[in-house]
Amino acid sequence: MIKKVLVANRGEIAMRIFRTCRVMNIPTVAIYTHVDRSALHVRYAEEAYCISKDETDTSYLKPDLILEIARKTGAAIHPGYGFLSENADFARRCEESGVVFIGPSADIIARMGVKTEARKIMEEAGVPIVPGTKDPVSGVEEARLRAAEIGYPVMLKALAGGGGKGMRLVRTEADLDAAFRMSRSEAANSFGNDAIYIEKYIENPHHIEVQVLGDKYGNVIHLYERECSIQRRNQKVIEESPSPFVKPETRQKMLKIAVEACKKIGYYSAGTLEFMMDKDQNFYFLEMNTRLQVEHPVTEECTGVDLVRDMILVASGSPLPYKQEEIEFRGAAIECRIYAEDPENNFMPSPGVIKVREAPEGRNVRLDSAAYAGFEVSLHYDPMIAKLCSWGRNRESAISNMRRALREYKILGIKTTIPFHLRVLQNPTFLSGNYDTTFIDTKFDREELKRRQNSDPTVALIAAALRHFEQEKEAAARATTVPLVGESLWKYYGKIQMAANNF
Ligand code: ADP
Ligand code: ADP
Ligand code: MG
Repeated sequence: MIKKVLVANRGEIAMRIFRTCRVMNIPTVAIYTHVDRSALHVRYAEEAYCISKDETDTSYLKPDLILEIARKTGAAIHPGYGFLSENADFARRCEESGVVFIGPSADIIARMGVKTEARKIMEEAGVPIVPGTKDPVSGVEEARLRAAEIGYPVMLKALAGGGGKGMRLVRTEADLDAAFRMSRSEAANSFGNDAIYIEKYIENPHHIEVQVLGDKYGNVIHLYERECSIQRRNQKVIEESPSPFVKPETRQKMLKIAVEACKKIGYYSAGTLEFMMDKDQNFYFLEMNTRLQVEHPVTEECTGVDLVRDMILVASGSPLPYKQEEIEFRGAAIECRIYAEDPENNFMPSPGVIKVREAPEGRNVRLDSAAYAGFEVSLHYDPMIAKLCSWGRNRESAISNMRRALREYKILGIKTTIPFHLRVLQNPTFLSGNYDTTFIDTKFDREELKRRQNSDPTVALIAAALRHFEQEKEAAARATTVPLVGESLWKYYGKIQMAANNF
């Protein structure tokens, strides 16, 4: 039985898991680093342990220490996503030392963590896979041969990939050498493993994924699909359920294949099978994420299921609390990932202290966040600071609710991607529901975002005045003889007005 839960994570996901623990009356244990000492998850948990050696130590990747804390406190470990969540050695060491790991078996994590291995397993289980190499390629020579066999365009991908890193699209043979070198070095840096394999690049693909849930007695159900095709640098930024693109027949086929494959491999806990789907609704297995996913709230909003609760129940040996027929899917949900990034400046990281935070409230809105006014967003961790989710009776109403919530959401002190989301939610291609993973690069006008941002005349005037003042100050500093206020206020105002018009 699980009597306590340690979350080996930080930020919104630690809060998400703790909240379900509180619902279940399970006491909680937080771990934190020195820079996170005033983070919300530390305050929320019943117990909290610092895992930093010293003030400069920002790492959450401390398997030994975390296991020791779990043993001492008598807690099971939920890994969240990222960090140790897909580290098979860690899951195995939990199993061996009698600490309950709230996730699938170490064996499954290990096999799915190697992408070529996952592809083999799924192919054997009857799932169509993206055409490509069965094994990693030995070097650039073999890469050239295999890419020619598969046919351009191809995608070079890291065997140990994750978070959209270590992959390169190659359109012609001339670009292969350089792309291969870049993929390899990025893979080595990000994953400590530079092995690369090759997949056919699916043109204008939709990223569609199936949420599954299994127990230790061979029961597996699906919780329908999510569309995650709004991506930047191969990373999701907006997700929704149901997919507005998938046809009912395709959906039924996909869900059935996913459940059958998971039964065959004896999968338990929550997991996700990711697929690429082309414009003709052909779908191909991409990878399996053996953990709770960032975008799980959209599924929870439409099915009413608490995925974290069920992960805890399954880990403690309970059978799944429902059968497939008992899952009722209602309406539509959307999630916007809110990043501490400046969308007007090529999504540059924007760390700093949150000065003001006004969170959206009211009907059909869900906010998963660990931000508060006074909290400092650090450069040391993932820039995602919150997830805003909306529900509606249909897609249109989910979108209207999201727009309303985004407009209420105020974060000052740092830049966030809130204005970016508002723009996407007005884009005709997004509204049509037929968008693919090339959306941000091809259908979304970033210049437009900049212009729109500055179209408020008062804001433009203030911005222009500030800029003018800065320029005057700089000029005064450069030229010692030029007086700073050498012109009349009237002229000064006129200049600012002109600058504002051009802003
Ligand atoms: P999801 O489908 O849950 O969104 P992502 O691939 O976006 O999955 O990863 C979830 C989180 O974990 C992100 O914050 C991402 O940056 C991080 N992450 C996942 N895998 C890795 C990895 N191998 N290395 C570094 N970060 C990763
Ligand atoms: P990660 O482990 O980093 O999440 P994935 O294999 O899940 O890597 O791919 C992430 C994203 O990269 C996909 O959602 C898709 O946008 C793009 N991608 C990956 N492989 C292909 C492919 N073969 N064809 C087209 N796009 C791809
Ligand atoms: Mg993926």
